Parts: sequence; C-alpha cells; structure tokens
Amino acid sequence: METILLLLHTEPDGLLPRSAFEAVSAARTLANGGRFAVGLVGETIQAAADQLAQCGAGAFLGVSGSAFAQPRYATDSAAAEAICRQANPSLVLAPATSRWNRVLPGVAHRCGGRADTHVTGVNHSADGLSVQRWYYRQRMEADLRRTQRPWFVLIDGGSFPGWSGPPGTAQIQVLNPEIGTPKTTVIGTRQPSGGAQTIRPEAKLLFVAGAGWTKKQADGQAHVQEAEQVISECLRLTNASLGSTKSLVDLGGEGQAVLSFLTHFNQVGQTGSTPRHPKGLATCCHGEEPHTVGWRFINERRAVNLDPNCGWARGKADILYVADAFAVVKKLNELFRQRAQG
Ligand SMILES: Cc1cc2nc3c(=O)[nH]c(=O)nc-3n(C[C@H](O)[C@H](O)[C@H](O)COP(=O)(O)OP(=O)(O)OC[C@H]3O[C@@H](n4cnc5c(N)ncnc54)[C@H](O)[C@@H]3O)c2cc1C
Repeated sequence: METILLLLHTEPDGLLPRSAFEAVSAARTLANGGRFAVGLVGETIQAAADQLAQCGAGAFLGVSGSAFAQPRYATDSAAAEAICRQANPSLVLAPATSRWNRVLPGVAHRCGGRADTHVTGVNHSADGLSVQRWYYRQRMEADLRRTQRPWFVLIDGGSFPGWSGPPGTAQIQVLNPEIGTPKTTVIGTRQPSGGAQTIRPEAKLLFVAGAGWTKKQADGQAHVQEAEQVISECLRLTNASLGSTKSLVDLGGEGQAVLSFLTHFNQVGQTGSTPRHPKGLATCCHGEEPHTVGWRFINERRAVNLDPNCGWARGKADILYVADAFAVVKKLNELFRQRAQG
C-alpha cells in the first residue's frame, strides 16, 4: 500500500484552484477508503485546509507566509521538499498547475524519486499502482508503472471529477523551511502580446474561432471588426476560454486582418494545445483532423458552420448547427445580456 501525500498550493484568495479538488478525487481513489496526508503551500492556507477538512485526509502539513504568495522556484521547491521530508510518502500526487509543473520534478530529484507529468488516470490493482498519460500529441495512451519511490504524479486538470464535500476545521502542522533570501522578486505579471487575457484553463467553455470569421460573407465583404466585437463580447459574457485554428492565427503573420487579441498561444490542435474544458463551441472553423486532435479532452463538442459537409459533420462534433456564426453568436450574446440583467 502506498503512503500518499497530496501536495496543493493556494491561489491569491487563499482558496484552492479547481484542479486541486480533482487531485483530491485521485487521492481518494488510490487511498481506497484509507487516509492520506495533504500538504499546502501559499500565503495563507487555513481556509484551503478547512475546505478539505472532510475529504479523507488524516493529516495536514503546511508552509505559509508572504514569501509563498507568488510562484517562485526557490521558495516553492523549499516548501514542497520540507513537506515531503516530513510526510515521507511513497506517492506524491499534485494537480498539474503551471506552478507545480515547474517545481515538482526538481523536488522529486532532491527526494531521490521520479516524477511523471500530464497524468490523466490512476489505477491501483493487485498488480500494483499504474498511471495513464498520453503521448505523441495525444494519439497514444500509455499505462506506466515505476518501482522508484517516492513517485511524484502530476494530474492534468479535467481528468477527474472534482471532489466536493462540506468544509470543517482542519489542524495544520506548520513547517518553516529555510529559504534564505530569494534572488527572484516578483514585480508583476505581463499579458501575452494580444492584449486581453483570453486563455482561461478553468473556464467551463472553450470558444474556438476559425478563419471563417475573416472570410468574405454572403454580402461579398469581410467583416473582421464586427467579428472581433462579437467574439470579444461573447467571451466577456460567458467567461469562456478562447481557442483558435492554425489558419486564423497564421493570418497575422501574413499581414492580413485578424482578431487583435489572438496569438499563437490560442491555437488548438496537433501543433497547438489540447485544452480540457467540459464544453466546446467551434465557430467558423472547418473541423479538420489536425485541429480536432486538440479537442480530444473536450467532453461536449458543438460547432457552427455554414457548410453542412464540413469536418464536424463527420463524427467530430456532438451537434453541428448549419448556420451563420455571426447570426448565432450575436443571438447568444443577446440572450446572455438579458440573463445578466436578470
Ligand atoms: C502538420 C499539420 C499540423 C496542423 N496543425 C494544426 C493545429 O494544431 N491546429 C489547427 O487549427 N490546424 C492545424 N493544421 C491546419 C488544419 O489542417 C486546417 O487547415 C485548419 O485547422 C483550418 O482552419 P479553419 O477551419 O479555421 O479554416 P478553413 O478551413 O478556411 O475553414 C473556415 C470555415 O469557416 C466556415 N465559415 C465561413 N463563414 C462562416 C460563417 N459566417 N458562419 C459559419 N461558418 C462559416 C467555412 O464554411 C469553413 O468551413 C495543421 C495542418 C498540418 C498539415
């Protein structure tokens, strides 16, 4: 049986990100009714521990203070290492946030262990523990086992249902690792060159824009500015994350008119990202294979396209609306506006 430590960090509000609750589900699956330890790092951690007071954790260990408010390798690794040394686990589970992805492989090395990132499933059977992850741009799934311990397993968001349960009062064993004077000072955050921050991993909806938004429409004209206004309003009203096709983001490099808030970071697909959101809506996008590879982990897919014979119609979307995306998204915005006004 593994000795499990679930390592979590808090957000600036002192609470946990959604992916933390998904990692709790993974820990509960592996603990199989047994107890596991929870380690918390952040500026404040008590509220987060209270959120998890009844999740099945047998112990809470924590490192807190202003030095741990911002992600920073030196302080985060010192905190995680101190918790690991105290808990002495054989298995360390953590959500694959950018903060932990950057730090935990190094902590695994310090602890003489091994780390696997982008894990999408965990399994404990008579044969022992195994984890699942995808390779080759999400085309092949592997089932991995390791003999080396401690084993650090970073779980991709969207792989498990989030645990939910009533809060309580948790007792935290507070640790004070030696951090010295960090050489890195966080002075702020800078947005990608596109301006508006449109990539929102925690969003319930992925809204994908395709090159069709910039193409000539029924009146023989392109309506790029209108497209920009309609899409940005939709993003504002729904808080969706914005994805794009390669064709659309590539247009910028060719000097053509494109949506100003799009960058290559938004690209979804074989040569783009593979985001995880419960729902996805593709608009003015053809649904070609290299693009839909990036939709692998979107649970419910819908598309709006003028072409009834587009790629989405061939089994790639759950629902295809054969319609003008300008008209559909404008109508959606109107309905969302009405709902927002009560
Ligand atoms: C090796 C390789 C890797 C690739 N990797 C990626 C990748 O990672 N991601 C990616 O996206 N692509 C990738 N591609 C490119 C991919 O094959 C497609 O060319 C691209 O995804 C097409 O983009 P699109 O659907 O936006 O554009 P188009 O194919 O031009 O489609 C535009 C669509 O908009 C529709 N449309 C136009 N006006 C409207 C309207 N008013 N309402 C509704 N619909 C409308 C049209 O009917 C059309 O279907 C890759 C290609 C290769 C060869």
